[in-house]
Amino acid sequence: MSFLKNVDPEIFSVINDETNRQETTIDLIASENYASKAVMEATGSTLTNKYAEGYPGKRYYGGCEFVDKAEELARERCKKLFGAEHVNVQPHAGSPANMAVYYIACNLGDTIMGMSLAEGGHLTHGHKVNFSGKLYSSVQYTVNKETELLDYDQIRKLAHEYKPKLIIAGASAYSRAIDFKKFSEIAKEVNAYLMTDIAHIAGLVATGLHESPVPYADFVTSTTHKTLRGPRGGLIMCKKEFAEKVDKAIMPGLQGGPFMNSIAAKAVAFHEALQPAFKAYQKQVIANAQTMAKGLQELGYRIVTGGTDNHLFIVDLRSKSLNGQIAEKALDAVGISVSRSCVPFDTQAPWITSGIRIGTPAITTRGMKEVEMQHIVQFIDEAIMQRDNTQRVAMIKDAIAKLCKKFHIYG
Ligand code: PLP
Repeated sequence: MSFLKNVDPEIFSVINDETNRQETTIDLIASENYASKAVMEATGSTLTNKYAEGYPGKRYYGGCEFVDKAEELARERCKKLFGAEHVNVQPHAGSPANMAVYYIACNLGDTIMGMSLAEGGHLTHGHKVNFSGKLYSSVQYTVNKETELLDYDQIRKLAHEYKPKLIIAGASAYSRAIDFKKFSEIAKEVNAYLMTDIAHIAGLVATGLHESPVPYADFVTSTTHKTLRGPRGGLIMCKKEFAEKVDKAIMPGLQGGPFMNSIAAKAVAFHEALQPAFKAYQKQVIANAQTMAKGLQELGYRIVTGGTDNHLFIVDLRSKSLNGQIAEKALDAVGISVSRSCVPFDTQAPWITSGIRIGTPAITTRGMKEVEMQHIVQFIDEAIMQRDNTQRVAMIKDAIAKLCKKFHIYG
């Protein structure tokens, strides 16, 4: 980054510091990952200079012959990866992808039904502080109080009672498999559209390690930067019959010029995801999450739903008379990043929470396996329990930095 160093030493220094932070700390944030160098090169390429409103072959600007190729490659690879009939790779992120679907499926004020944030859903699934809860009439389903699993009887009952125009299946903090087929049956019963948001589990879906919603849903949205390990961005998949509506909803409906550098980087990520090594990686992501959840359970931590089927799990810290805020801070102090998280039916404020969400996509990309998971479990427990012991905290931090030195973020 010699140019950046000369032109803007301040930002150069910020980037260096952040790279060093990533290199020397353990990232257990379930929505994060390390995009490959190839993805980063495409992101930082000359394609950032190009305006290309429209779609391949139908742009509002000249000089699009090469970016057209990039977008076609991204679309074709994504279709192949997920077996989708149509793909739009232009959404700048997951939230606008969701917004575009609501725009197509609903009129303002119509009823939508998604999972509540506190029980694992996303803000854009109808939360009252978000556009989805302000522009639409939002009904929220939760999980079963005893099992903490999605309660399809409750979802069916709510759907029949409120007759939503759109049902949203998908989550940001749910550690179990989602039955997309059942969701589609419920949606059909009440004549609702079904949108599945696979932002978190896209990598697992792409590799067949989680059931795909593509055959069942009218619309499938995703981010590209979580388990899928691509650049920051979003996408929408749909049946052919909705192709034109989806494309129009994104441009001119919601966005202007697509980020062609990001689209090229998405194409690279889809190519990487189509390789056999990607499936092995996703399998390890799940194995690592299961090893960590079990290890923490053995140390007396309660894991929401009792374990995990995917890349993440939620630790209920009430079993240790703690809250998410305290744990997040204690872990930060030793170089472990997690995100605090509500547990189902949490009585703590969302800013405090009773839990933390732990995910393994990033550490698995570094090459860590079961043995390292067991070390990390010990670090987590000690960092939380010994948080007031400054000497101990320094020792754990040192041990974590040493572990990180063996597993570089870029090979
Ligand atoms: N959908 C789900 C399920 C998510 O978890 C997220 C982000 O965490 C989003 C959508 C939104 O994605 P973005 O942050 O790219 O807008």
